Amino acid sequence: GGAASARYLDALNPEQRLAVETTEGPVLVLAGAGTGKTRVLTTRIAHILATGRAYPSQILAVTFTNKAAREMKERIGTLVGEAVEGMPWLGTFHSIGVKILRRHAELAGLKSSFTILDTDDQIRLIKQIIQAEGLDDKRWPARQFAQMIDGWKNKGLAPKEIAEGDARAFANGRGRELYAAYQERLKSLNAVDFGDLLCLPIRIFRDNPDVLAEYHRKFRYILVDEYQDTNTAQYMWLRLLAQRPKSAGEAPLNICCVGDDDQSIYGWRGAEVDNILRFEKDFPGAKVIRLERNYRSTAHILGAASHLIAHNEGRLGKTLFTDKAQPDEAKVKVHASWDSEEEARAIGEEVEALQSKRHALNDMAILVRASFQMREFEDRFVTLGVNYRVIGGPRFYERQEIRDALAYFRIVSQEADDLAFERIINVPKRGLGDASLRQVHDVARARQVPLLQAARDLAGTEEMKPKPRSALRTLTENIDRWQDLLDKTSHTELAETILEESGYTDMWKNDRSPEAPGRLENLKELIRSMEDYESLRGFLEHVSLVMDAERHEEMDAISLMTLHSAKGLEFETVFLPGWEEGLFPHQRALDEGGRSGLEEERRLAYVGLTRAKKNLHLWFASNRRIHGLWQSTIPSRFLDELPEAHVDVADEGSSYGGYGQGHIGRPNPYGKSRFDNAEVFSNTYSTPGWQRAQKNRSDATARNWGTRSGHQVERIGYGETDSGY
Ligand code: ATP
Ligand code: MG
Repeated sequence: GGAASARYLDALNPEQRLAVETTEGPVLVLAGAGTGKTRVLTTRIAHILATGRAYPSQILAVTFTNKAAREMKERIGTLVGEAVEGMPWLGTFHSIGVKILRRHAELAGLKSSFTILDTDDQIRLIKQIIQAEGLDDKRWPARQFAQMIDGWKNKGLAPKEIAEGDARAFANGRGRELYAAYQERLKSLNAVDFGDLLCLPIRIFRDNPDVLAEYHRKFRYILVDEYQDTNTAQYMWLRLLAQRPKSAGEAPLNICCVGDDDQSIYGWRGAEVDNILRFEKDFPGAKVIRLERNYRSTAHILGAASHLIAHNEGRLGKTLFTDKAQPDEAKVKVHASWDSEEEARAIGEEVEALQSKRHALNDMAILVRASFQMREFEDRFVTLGVNYRVIGGPRFYERQEIRDALAYFRIVSQEADDLAFERIINVPKRGLGDASLRQVHDVARARQVPLLQAARDLAGTEEMKPKPRSALRTLTENIDRWQDLLDKTSHTELAETILEESGYTDMWKNDRSPEAPGRLENLKELIRSMEDYESLRGFLEHVSLVMDAERHEEMDAISLMTLHSAKGLEFETVFLPGWEEGLFPHQRALDEGGRSGLEEERRLAYVGLTRAKKNLHLWFASNRRIHGLWQSTIPSRFLDELPEAHVDVADEGSSYGGYGQGHIGRPNPYGKSRFDNAEVFSNTYSTPGWQRAQKNRSDATARNWGTRSGHQVERIGYGETDSGY
């Protein structure tokens, strides 16, 4: 009603309000971090609903993560003042893509029950194809080809559409043929990969104008968040949906995209920031709205971030301002530590200190450049008993025990999931070795049936030796029984039953390796996480889609994630560890040479800095172990690019019990770093930290110490130094 609408519009500034109220025609909101772009989108949807312009099902809204989609749904509900009856088309590109594909699977030669393969499955499948073609999979690695396929799919290219040169780049010119074989194989498995979730709908829309027209009638409003990170395929998909053919009496296309070119961080995955620049051309008459007031961060944080990003040349350029700095606002703090373990320990202390001052863990986040950095924090928080959650990684689901368990669940819910069956046929070991597996494969091929069916058949004949035959019979009978339970028990109970009866849980219970208890914990956690879903199918779909693997949504916990998955989020306090050359900016970007890789790293730094509302801590460690090699580091050039007016080099006197006399890093080849002469404030030089550091070194005799980039690796013994410490 009127009163409600007045209220939600009142919470906007004039430019934001314009973006919300310009409901008809194409709109592009181009604005920096924290200026309320997402708030505009959310309010715009609320406005469309509250003014009766469309039903929830007539709005297509794309967010970057599933988590963002859930939050947006909640907020819209609050704004409209009533529970929004489903927003079925609010989700990520992928989740919306699955939905469309399930509805029209037959037009892509699939059944609507198709499976979504993850990267691991995808690579195994490609490897099989490479081998089946008689090629050497060492010379032509499956992983490399998987990346090429992803690249093509990001551009929306089918096998016959890829450029001649690209097709020639793999397996002596057989790239196209292999890509086609892979697609055929997927079809016969009734499976798709991630790229297909967009590419297949695009193809369906192109080949079936009537289907596309159905969606044109359906979606009256299209909204896209984080528009700067759309890739070509996503862009094609959007354009197909948004550009209905002009005909009399049709309502205009109402598409609203919001984005920030400075936060484009998925170039490595095919995102095209140029999509922003093309918007006005593709959608004539587009209204471009700029928002310039940042509502998120203090003046110090914003000053630091703006100054840093100004080092990039390829920018559209934007103005950002916030209220004048308040006297009690903290500057951005830069801290140094001896190594990454100490970094984790010190951040742990900082977190506990904040906790004791009644700061909620929910308001804190640690954002890392590379996911391997997480383990140390996880360990630390487990030791301290500080709750944490890992967001955004498929990390949890990528663990071996989780993948095994999921394979069991998959074969039970999808009979034809050969990859899943292969994974578990001899896990735990039940005497079904390569020979048995080959037999199953042969039968499957001869009879054109899935592996599971072939196994059933084999188990009932004399074709196999008695021992493996009986093992196979037990396994297939188990699977039959579990399938039978699918509709009879809750999916979580079924999951437990499967892990118990298959002997999988026992396998880890009997395992003496130090990781085994952790694996059992993870399996428990897996079952717990299934409770949030209504069915096994729903859960499995979630798993294959997960971008954000958050757990225990309700508990107070510090968030741990990569910078890439922090996009769009905000926290009171943000810790950014590992600001060292080679780690951040990442070595890969440096090796590339040129400007674009480094500028994308800098945008990533900008995203990191602008996540913080009040407190921002940057860290660098003087030594870091990367891929098993200890390397002494050089502070990140990004630290030097921060303006002194907004930055403090932290004085850790009280919490560290001793100042060090060392100097950080060696001469910086990129020019002298302000931080070269910063003191290492660390108990590394006093006991017991120093002893610990020495012990670490002596643990591995003559451990490799390398230079920062690993170009020169020296082996030196205990007690020696190669860096003048
Ligand atoms: P990012 O680029 O990081 O995604 P964004 O532009 O999407 O940022 P939002 O997340 O929408 O920005 O908003 C940042 C913060 O500012 C949020 O906490 C939001 O609630 C708040 N905010 C936005 N607009 C206003 C406003 N007009 N008045 C008060 N607070 C606002
Ligand atoms: Mg946002």
